[in-house]
Amino acid sequence: MGIQNKYDVAVIGAGVFGAWTAWHLAKRGQRVALIEAYGPAHSRASSGGESRIIRMGYGADELYTRWSKKSLKQWKEFFAATRQPLFLETGVLWMAGDDDKRLEQTSTTLKRCGVEFEELNRSTLAKRYPQIGLDAIKRGIFEPKSGVLMARRAVAAVVEDAVRLGAEYRCAQVMNPRGPSRVEHITTSRGERITAGEFVFACGPWLGKVFPDVLGSRIFPSRQEVFFFGIPAGDTRFAPPALPTWLFQEDLVYGMPDIEGRGLKIAFDEHGERVDPDTQSRIVSLAMTDAVKKYVTRRFPALKDAPIVETRVCQYENTSNGDLLIDRHPEMENVWFVGGGSGHGFKHGPIVGEYVTARLFDGAQAEARLSLGTKATAQRRAVY
Ligand SMILES: Cc1cc2nc3c(=O)[nH]c(=O)nc-3n(C[C@H](O)[C@H](O)[C@H](O)COP(=O)(O)OP(=O)(O)OC[C@H]3O[C@@H](n4cnc5c(N)ncnc54)[C@H](O)[C@@H]3O)c2cc1C
Repeated sequence: MGIQNKYDVAVIGAGVFGAWTAWHLAKRGQRVALIEAYGPAHSRASSGGESRIIRMGYGADELYTRWSKKSLKQWKEFFAATRQPLFLETGVLWMAGDDDKRLEQTSTTLKRCGVEFEELNRSTLAKRYPQIGLDAIKRGIFEPKSGVLMARRAVAAVVEDAVRLGAEYRCAQVMNPRGPSRVEHITTSRGERITAGEFVFACGPWLGKVFPDVLGSRIFPSRQEVFFFGIPAGDTRFAPPALPTWLFQEDLVYGMPDIEGRGLKIAFDEHGERVDPDTQSRIVSLAMTDAVKKYVTRRFPALKDAPIVETRVCQYENTSNGDLLIDRHPEMENVWFVGGGSGHGFKHGPIVGEYVTARLFDGAQAEARLSLGTKATAQRRAVY
């Protein structure tokens, strides 16, 4: 048997949610262990990869608009304090065609939440973004203060700062915890024993593997493929500020301008097949490659023959409707689930960490939408 340590909280998983949870706990002086199987925001994690969108628009969904706004403030403060420019204010452009109900709702919610934005009609869109093929697009909303978080590096920076604040980080795989009602310690695959008062499992798409009985049918990891298209030499039309981060609502497609010379990023937001995050193939499919090429030709005609310069295969860790999951285990009273980012969770990392900390130590009221009770075993996506 290895070392035995006693912590106030053991956080399992150093993706964006575990990293920010450990950071907030350490900042309050809690003794924290942060245990991660592969490394912060590693290549198989949902937080892996270079970039994530942070936008305020969530249709009529005020909770996530407010969380996003508060999180952006914390991300910016964190990057300023640690002197790392890992937020890029590219602006975020929403576009809609005939079905612009969601855009209407976004506009109402942004106004109510005091978020700066601009409404753009088709002729303004055409003038401002001549590099975009506006076929079937009628109008747009532009969030000038939103943009891109440099994901992998941002998570590593949060972990590093949590350690500076006193958290202990270790690379180890935690074995599935055993109850019945209170967990005294967890063990790692190397036989170490870690004792703590509370255990926060921020295991992203692995949550269903760690808790097969409770979450095996409630977390749906879906395969998601991401592509980068090379920009013609010397062409600045696809880099910020000429091109912002963009989302085409009805097509369920989003992407980013050319950042750090990696090319135009594009991905379909539709859920792919169910996958295992440890073993799924990280090589993109021919079918998706064809679909994405066709889409790029339609929306960015000047990139018709652009080469694919990089690809990534990741997975969303969806709940039944897309709401996050932050709740106590139904039987093990000091075990918590934190996850269910469902393709939109990254931006909320800071507020998730703050919320978990307040639930654990301030008796903060639970947000009903995030509870286990609201997570069904059949998928019906409602949060985008
Ligand atoms: C392609 C793609 C695009 C996305 N785009 C956006 C976007 O633009 N904006 C946005 O806000 N969100 C976006 N998301 C969603 C967001 O990235 C995720 O919701 C978020 O990163 C999930 O973080 P997490 O910490 O829950 O999970 P993860 O990052 O997967 O972290 C979980 C960690 O737990 C560890 N772990 C699991 N089991 C164990 C164990 N037994 N022992 C030790 N460690 C363990 C894993 O190794 C892993 O590192 C996107 C996701 C993908 C895949």
